[in-house]
Amino acid sequence: MTSFEDARRIILGKVSPAGVERVLLLDAVGRIMAEDFMAPSDMPPWDYSAMDGFAVRSAYCPPNATLTVTDYIPAGVSSADAVRPGCAARIMTGAPIPPGADAVVPLEETEPGDGTLRLLHQVRKNDHIRFQGEDVTSGQPVVTRGTLIAPPQVSLLASFAAVLVPVYRRVRVAILSTGDELVELGTPPGPGEIVNSNTLALAAAVQLCGAEPAIIGIARDNRESHLALISEGLKADVLITSAGVSAGDRDLVRETLAALGVVEQFWKINVKPGGPTAFGLKGNTPVFSLPGNPAATLIAFEQFVRPALLKMMGHTRVLRRIVPGFLTGELRKKAGRLNFLRVHVTMAGGRYLASTSGDNHTGILQTMLGANGLALLPADRSEFSAGDQVDLQILDPTLEMEEYHVI
Ligand code: AMP
Ligand code: MG
Repeated sequence: MTSFEDARRIILGKVSPAGVERVLLLDAVGRIMAEDFMAPSDMPPWDYSAMDGFAVRSAYCPPNATLTVTDYIPAGVSSADAVRPGCAARIMTGAPIPPGADAVVPLEETEPGDGTLRLLHQVRKNDHIRFQGEDVTSGQPVVTRGTLIAPPQVSLLASFAAVLVPVYRRVRVAILSTGDELVELGTPPGPGEIVNSNTLALAAAVQLCGAEPAIIGIARDNRESHLALISEGLKADVLITSAGVSAGDRDLVRETLAALGVVEQFWKINVKPGGPTAFGLKGNTPVFSLPGNPAATLIAFEQFVRPALLKMMGHTRVLRRIVPGFLTGELRKKAGRLNFLRVHVTMAGGRYLASTSGDNHTGILQTMLGANGLALLPADRSEFSAGDQVDLQILDPTLEMEEYHVI
């Protein structure tokens, strides 16, 4: 049996970014930059005024001097007329500094006259000027490969007129459920039948990673059906199968994968739930075979598939951070396997407190809904007391947000 750490190491060692595409700037949000973006020019592109006021020559501005206003430069206009000694150009924030001027006097530091102004304060060279290249110099790498595109990156790329941005492409993830008991959502289940909820749950999880789910359907518990649908699924960048991966005589996923040239890297991980998970490769195409119990399917996806999909889309931060948490009650488990315990996590005094969300059987889904985190209970332990420290994965990002109550 493969350990949790080895399983992840093997998976992440075998997958790599799927490819690069150029997309419109806003389509790049939340994705990873695939090349360095070098500033094509200086930013700001020219010296500009940081205030509404007057562009002047500081050497000719003794205190109390009266200057003649000779020009008017609103934002969006560039004036070629030099400011002469004893003169001033009315200038607005953002407008380029005209030739000759070396300082801006804010409006509120002047007293207006008739076509003139009087200086109320000392003027120093460079006052209220933002200089060309002060933010970014031409040729400087400003958004580097591997960066997550967020609003600041968008702002900078847009300011350099980047229309198309090179990002790692989204991966297309084929999702295939197996089982004679399954009917598709929309078909009323007959006796002994259940709705194929795993396909939809997996598609939701794939979407939340920023990848594209491709729903292949349901393979029935016979070889022909498995061969046909798994072949179809292998055309995607990644294939995820659900159920049929244990040791039952109708569990045909692994043998069908082998028949289609998928080389199994491991089967069975020393964890619970998710133990029967298999991982294989057909060329570069990873294949994850997850157990069918809905809670196990989702937990196995979270631990083994999500990090791989993120890596394939260029992310380097692909694992949930492990934080210390403290159990609020006693717990028992069988020794031998790492357990992912569904927990409800709260914050108290800066510490994470973790309470079991209830029945942790793989067939129980309710406790997945009640869980905003997973506690990783080590393989070698079987008893835990209230207050024991455990490793926690926080699954719900809103736990970092503050609740707001309208009174
Ligand atoms: P199996 O791995 O085929 O033995 O399935 C394990 C359990 O998961 C059984 O109770 C199945 O009915 C259930 N199951 C399998 N596939 C799905 C699915 N696509 N959606 C919901 N439950 C499933
Ligand atoms: Mg089955």
